[in-house]
Amino acid sequence: MKTWPALFLGHGSPMNAIEDSPFASAWTELGRALGKPRAVLCVSAHWLTRGTFLTGNSRPRTIHDFGGFPPELYDIQYPAPGDPALAEKTAARLGLGVGAVTEDWGLDHGAWSVLRRLFPAADVPIVQLSLDVGLSAAGHWALAERLAPLRDDGVLVLASGNTVHNLGDISWEDGAPVPDWAREFDGVVAGALREGRKEALLGWESLTARARRAHPTPDHFWPLLYVAALRRPGEPLSFPVEGFQNGTIAMRAVQVGAAPPTVSRH
Ligand code: ZN
Repeated sequence: MKTWPALFLGHGSPMNAIEDSPFASAWTELGRALGKPRAVLCVSAHWLTRGTFLTGNSRPRTIHDFGGFPPELYDIQYPAPGDPALAEKTAARLGLGVGAVTEDWGLDHGAWSVLRRLFPAADVPIVQLSLDVGLSAAGHWALAERLAPLRDDGVLVLASGNTVHNLGDISWEDGAPVPDWAREFDGVVAGALREGRKEALLGWESLTARARRAHPTPDHFWPLLYVAALRRPGEPLSFPVEGFQNGTIAMRAVQVGAAPPTVSRH
């Protein structure tokens, strides 16, 4: 069986789920290039918990965890099945205790906004893994390393966040300019990923002088660590999507493992 790539997608605005954009088209193309995994383990920036949890629902509900968007976005359902057996097996692999597999969550927009582009038929089972807010970057990395065998078991590890994520400074102008600090952080992160500089990624808060402006909170950065930690020695790493949305949201995608062709550059 082939080794599945691990994929990080910058999800940006929830509207990417329904609006045509170069990013949405790129995700659709990526999905076609990847083919169909047996299941997806999704780490989303939008499921933050104390402790680590996995969704154990056989039919995870679509969660509309945002406010102020048009009604059609709230009408979206992503009816992919869950995979309770995979959730249990992964909980054991991660050494999680009783109660780690829960039905208290479903699919949040960090997951479904990109999944409906990658796998529009909603026929790939999805399990979500939460982000423990009590873990350091090194703690997230160590947890992520334990997911490595999934890649040889037909499972796509999909992480969803953004390499730069500052909502306070976003611009709604068409063609919003990208501030220097945002472009710098995205570029430096890309370099650290390409060169496999684990310590630089773990110390992301001092990667650039204004790193904390790129991520006032760490939630959208953490998913990136889950993909970086799954890179094996000598494995290729590519950026199948690049660009910014609303000035201060970097849409860079990162693929570890067999690279599809670059499908979008902006
Ligand atoms: Zn988000």
